[in-house]
Amino acid sequence: MTDVFQQNDCRFCPGAKTKDVLRRPGFNVKQCMICGVMWTDPLRSDEVFRISDENAYLQVSDIVSSDNLERLRLILKYAPQDSYNKLLEIGFMHGDFLCQAREVGYEVHGLDLSESAVSVAASKLGDCVKRGTLDETHSGNSVDIIAAFNVIEHMDAPDNFLDNAKRALRPGGQLALETPSQESLYHYIMFLRGRLNPGKEFEIGLHPNGHMFKYGKKAWKNILSKRGFTVLHCATRSTSIKELLVKKKSSGIATRIGIILFGILARMLGLGNRIFVIARSQ
Ligand SMILES: [Zn+2]
Repeated sequence: MTDVFQQNDCRFCPGAKTKDVLRRPGFNVKQCMICGVMWTDPLRSDEVFRISDENAYLQVSDIVSSDNLERLRLILKYAPQDSYNKLLEIGFMHGDFLCQAREVGYEVHGLDLSESAVSVAASKLGDCVKRGTLDETHSGNSVDIIAAFNVIEHMDAPDNFLDNAKRALRPGGQLALETPSQESLYHYIMFLRGRLNPGKEFEIGLHPNGHMFKYGKKAWKNILSKRGFTVLHCATRSTSIKELLVKKKSSGIATRIGIILFGILARMLGLGNRIFVIARSQ
């Protein structure tokens, strides 16, 4: 892998001490000693943008809908549509969340990098969904809510994304994020497995070009407060077991039973695999 994509320093805390917490074939996992965020070094092996698995997404549309309702319920609690009208989602996939948000009264807008996702979403939502990213050209103080679910862990410059979100949001506007969690049963077990099998390649929940960063409650509170946000809500949640089974459809029966037991145990222990954050721009 080329040195161009090496990431020695924390993107959020310039100059902070870091340590290698896990060595994997082809990359290391580093952690910032200040904010606690983890990332892969290198972040990428190339510049190619890889779209998430849209087929798997389509097979779980009923779960996506109930997940979205849970997200909407939290957003409505902290940013009700009568005082927070304009909602922008980054990485909207097929626009399901935006459709549900529009139904409860938000004025919705979306940006996504996948051409096919934009075309599917546009057939339901019209021209309020576009291909693109939230960048420095986005007009300032123009949005009430920015939502990004399971997106920021795929960004190699998440600090720039947060700065652009801060600028695009009006003062008092809110940011709603969902990402994989460091404080999860999945994370603890995969890291232990990684330590025990240093030369063997398998998924640990972090990999160059894919999930490049992993956040936890401490990391989110630290990162967001340094960037001018006040955290209003920060809690773990679990991916539905049905969704995990669809994604591992080709696995054997033992793996599928393992996924079910694992999902139940993670819920019992309160160690869900995702973290949901709502923060207000100061
Ligand atoms: Zn840091």
